[in-house]
Formats: sequence, C-alpha cells, structure tokens
Amino acid sequence: MTSFPVTARRVRDESLSPRRRRSHLRDCLYHFAPYGFHATWHHLATRHRIPRDIEADPPSLVRALGELETARALVLARAVAFAAQRRLQKQAGRRTPTTPHPWDSWGCHDIAYCPDPQKHPTEVLSIVVGRVLDAYAAGVDLAGRCLVCGDEDSRPGRACRNCGVVPDGYRNSV
Ligand SMILES: [Zn+2]
Repeated sequence: MTSFPVTARRVRDESLSPRRRRSHLRDCLYHFAPYGFHATWHHLATRHRIPRDIEADPPSLVRALGELETARALVLARAVAFAAQRRLQKQAGRRTPTTPHPWDSWGCHDIAYCPDPQKHPTEVLSIVVGRVLDAYAAGVDLAGRCLVCGDEDSRPGRACRNCGVVPDGYRNSV
C-alpha cells in the first residue's frame, strides 16, 4: 500500500479524474482515520459537502484532505516525541513504556473510534484528536468521563451517548 503523502498528492492531482481523486481520498483513510474508516468518511463528506456526483465539486476533496492532514500532523508530532522518549527509556534499561498510548499500538488510526458511522463529533478533526492526545498525555483516567465531549456517563468499551466516541478506542470496542 502506498504511503499517506503519496496518496494525498493524488487527491490534489488535477490531471486525474474527480472519481479517481475521490477514491484516493478514501485510500488516505486506510492510513489515518481518527473515527475509524466509515465515520471519518461520513464526517469529511458532510462537513465539506462532497457531492455524490463528484464532478460537481472536485475541490471539496481537497478541502476534506486539508482537514485530515492537519489532524494527522498533530499525531505525527506526538509520535515522534514519544519515539524519542522511548529511546531514552530503553537506554536507561526500561523496556516497557511508562504510559501506553493507543496510537503506538495501532498507529494513529481510530484514536477516537466511532462505531456508528453517522454518530461522531461535529468539530474539526484536529480539535478532537488534539483533545484525546492531551488527555492521554495528562494521564487522564479513561473511566467515567468522555475524553472528547466530557460526558460524565462514559463507560469503557461503550460508545459515548453524546458524541459517539468509544472512550478507550477501537481496541476495546471489538
Ligand atoms: Zn463523548
């Protein structure tokens, strides 16, 4: 499978047909889909009004890609910082990370997994992703409170009744 940056370039490539470009945007979601593939696609398609007949508005694909890239940049920056920290810990003889981060074990994918494709946060992806990353970095307890919307009746393994996000991610929802 090609990398996210290569696939993203194809979304912007105006020499390709709008349908091909839309298919490349969907391929980007195999690399990075904060809500999971289907919910992230639904979010981008509704927010950027990607029409069913894509010939009517090809630039909607580029707008959607921009939102996805901004959120991905946040995760990459944290992943780089975390890798550096892990190297130091290993040098100090510690083999296991002090705090497990979801994006390390399953990539940046599904960081705010929403099992229902039509029920997901409505804010831009970078806001939601940033909130989840901050909460993990601060060592927030996953039980009891939704990391994304703050709902107080959040339970591990169950999608938040308010925003649709599973508080502890995809790993625990299957
Ligand atoms: Zn919530």
